[in-house]
Amino acid sequence: MKEPNLELEIVDNNKAILVVECPDCGDKSNFLLDEVSPGTSVLCNCGGVLDLTDNNLKSIEQKFNELNKNNP
Ligand SMILES: [Zn+2]
Repeated sequence: MKEPNLELEIVDNNKAILVVECPDCGDKSNFLLDEVSPGTSVLCNCGGVLDLTDNNLKSIEQKFNELNKNNP
């Protein structure tokens, strides 16, 4: 079990995309932030299991909220 690197991307219609990067192979997978729930694990192409923890997702959601505040 590994902690992935998470990034936030905002696309046109103000949707939040969660980018999950594998710390081992650098592979990136995209998910809709709405559709990921805490405790979910993502299986990477390299066979690594990436855990999306409550804390990780919370910090991404905070980021998203802050961005929304700045761009109403
Ligand atoms: Zn990987």
